[in-house]
Amino acid sequence: MIPLTQGGGRFTILGMIRYSTFRHARGRLAAALLMAVITANWAWQGWRDYHLDIGEFEVLGQSLARAADYQIDGSMRSMDTLLSEVANRVHPARWPDPKLEAWFQARLVAFPELRNINIIDASGHMVGRPITAPDRTMPTRSVDLSDREYFKRVRDAFPSQALVIGRPVQSRVSGLSSIPLARAIVGPDGGLAGMVVAGVDPEIFRQKLESVVFEEAGGAALLGQDGVFLARVPRHEETLGRTFPNPLFDGELGKLRAGVAHFVSPADGNDKITAFRRLERYPLMVTVGITKATALARWRRQSYVEGGILAALALALAVLAVQYDRRSLANTRLTGQLAASRDELEAQVEERTAHLAASNAELEQFAYVASHDLQEPLRTITSFLQLLQRRYGGQLDSQADEYIAFAVSGARRMSLLINDVLAFSRIGRQSGDAESCDTAALARAAVTALETAIAESGATVTMGELPPVRCVPAQLQSLFQNLIGNGIKYRDPHRPPVVVVSARVLDDALVEIAVADNGIGIEPQYHERIFGIFQRLHTSDSYPGTGIGLALCRKIVDRHGGRIGVESAPGRGTIIRFTLPAG
Ligand code: ADP
Repeated sequence: MIPLTQGGGRFTILGMIRYSTFRHARGRLAAALLMAVITANWAWQGWRDYHLDIGEFEVLGQSLARAADYQIDGSMRSMDTLLSEVANRVHPARWPDPKLEAWFQARLVAFPELRNINIIDASGHMVGRPITAPDRTMPTRSVDLSDREYFKRVRDAFPSQALVIGRPVQSRVSGLSSIPLARAIVGPDGGLAGMVVAGVDPEIFRQKLESVVFEEAGGAALLGQDGVFLARVPRHEETLGRTFPNPLFDGELGKLRAGVAHFVSPADGNDKITAFRRLERYPLMVTVGITKATALARWRRQSYVEGGILAALALALAVLAVQYDRRSLANTRLTGQLAASRDELEAQVEERTAHLAASNAELEQFAYVASHDLQEPLRTITSFLQLLQRRYGGQLDSQADEYIAFAVSGARRMSLLINDVLAFSRIGRQSGDAESCDTAALARAAVTALETAIAESGATVTMGELPPVRCVPAQLQSLFQNLIGNGIKYRDPHRPPVVVVSARVLDDALVEIAVADNGIGIEPQYHERIFGIFQRLHTSDSYPGTGIGLALCRKIVDRHGGRIGVESAPGRGTIIRFTLPAG
């Protein structure tokens, strides 16, 4: 294994880059690419989900704000109607009017949110006692209200008779917090005769808001002119009448009737999606908040889980990629080493083959020279032995004649052996070129050379059609001579020998020639051995021979790139087949 520590720390990016070439970083590159694609896709989906979730809560907030708008608007309209009626029918100069007072008292029973209605003259002094529901009478007190913010606003706005919703105040009559609703009373001369003001219990608005609150942290609020809090859920008491810097009253947002804004609430410091709506008829605004934490809870959870899975995937991919690259590098190195050892082996084989060829050639040369040189003294020995036999045959005793006869026969056999060895070693030396041979003619020449043996044995040699082959002609004749000769020599004593020479053309531009006889046959265990030099299965007494014939045949066939083999069984004849290139 190759350690991953080269070029600095284990698994560091620098280490990885230094550790291998670009080629062996393919795994890591692919993994990085894959991770980049997956992460980009994940980020895109996360971004989309984020906006989808935010959008969902924006729609929800707007629906809730609309519901609050309708409820508060309904309540405001009925109170406004009552106040208009009072303003139209009451004149501060003719007040208190017991009949009218009783009538309005009865009306107030249907308005639990209205604590009391006061009639104020043009100078800001309360006239008569507050009108309340019959069960909630209040003491009669002369109170100066000219310093009240709503008083000034109604007075300043006159002749407009629009309803003024004042800042929440502590009532000088009841001592309770109320939201003043004030409207001008017009005198018979068209001037400001006074005004009617109702004290609204802020609790009624708080209750209406409660039904639209989505969550405590988000809250809901009713805001009056300039963003003053008229009601709020939660922390209603704390915020009542207070004003905070509010982006909904500034810039572009300040002009919108309804919408959604994202900001950190100045009232409670929560980051929120705030849906807001300005009421159509009154200077009021309702807001419903949903914190980002709530709106994005599902998205955050999903992002954490997916992020975790992605990180695990990245880690697994990185490990796999590093392993892959390490293996790839190791493989390359191994392949390199294998190629190097193969080259080395091939070089060694070549060297040894050359060496072997050289020593073979040397051996052949030696055999050739030795047998050639042996011929001369052998010839001398043979001629003198023959001379001895001729001259002194019958003159010495019979044993001496026998010895001389043995010596002559031995010298003859030796001569045969030397000739055969010479022929064998000549095959290697002959540099004759292979040419297209007339196979049939060469086979016939071999038969002619074997004429005596054929005649003596009464053999029949037949030949089929023999197509031309590429061979050194003399060697092909020698092949035929050896094989046909063996067919006759190793004949079965019980039947006259028959030798058949046939041939067939094989697919791959080869000709297979078969020499078949009906002789004694060869046991299967000797089928390979008989092609070895000096390998004989019989003594020279029973069958004369040197054991070189078949070795010579194999050598010739080998040299022409063919193959030779035997098919035989004792008593069933022998077929020697060999192949040569087609001529
Ligand atoms: P040689 O004939 O000189 O002994 P060969 O190399 O031609 O040498 O043959 C080797 C041996 O193979 C022979 O001794 C013989 O036993 C056997 N042999 C060769 N040809 C035949 C054949 N046609 N039939 C039976 N035996 C054979």
